Amino acid sequence: MKITLGAVCEPGTAMENKTGGWRTFMPVFEYDKCIRCAICEVACPDMCIYADQETANEKGKCLYKADYDYCKGCGICANECPKDVITMTLEEK
Ligand code: SF4
Ligand code: SF4
Repeated sequence: MKITLGAVCEPGTAMENKTGGWRTFMPVFEYDKCIRCAICEVACPDMCIYADQETANEKGKCLYKADYDYCKGCGICANECPKDVITMTLEEK
């Protein structure tokens, strides 16, 4: 059998591969403790934490959320959050 070496991926295909199905633990945010430092957003290796503009309060501060379609449940965000806002919780499917 001939095996071809290497692979070619089109740019932007990461959006097509929803990785949330692998998750065992999911990040849950306790928003009243959040200081909106954005460390979680920067630390997430999958870039799936975002500041949700639709939940901005009267001061224009919005809530940070995880896109569960792409979150793999690695827990890095919870580990890096300086205010212990994020708790990794066993996901029930
Ligand atoms: S790292 Fe924690 S405190 Fe900072 S924005 Fe994220 S959830 Fe809020
Ligand atoms: S658990 Fe991992 S993949 Fe999910 S939001 Fe946090 S850092 Fe990102």
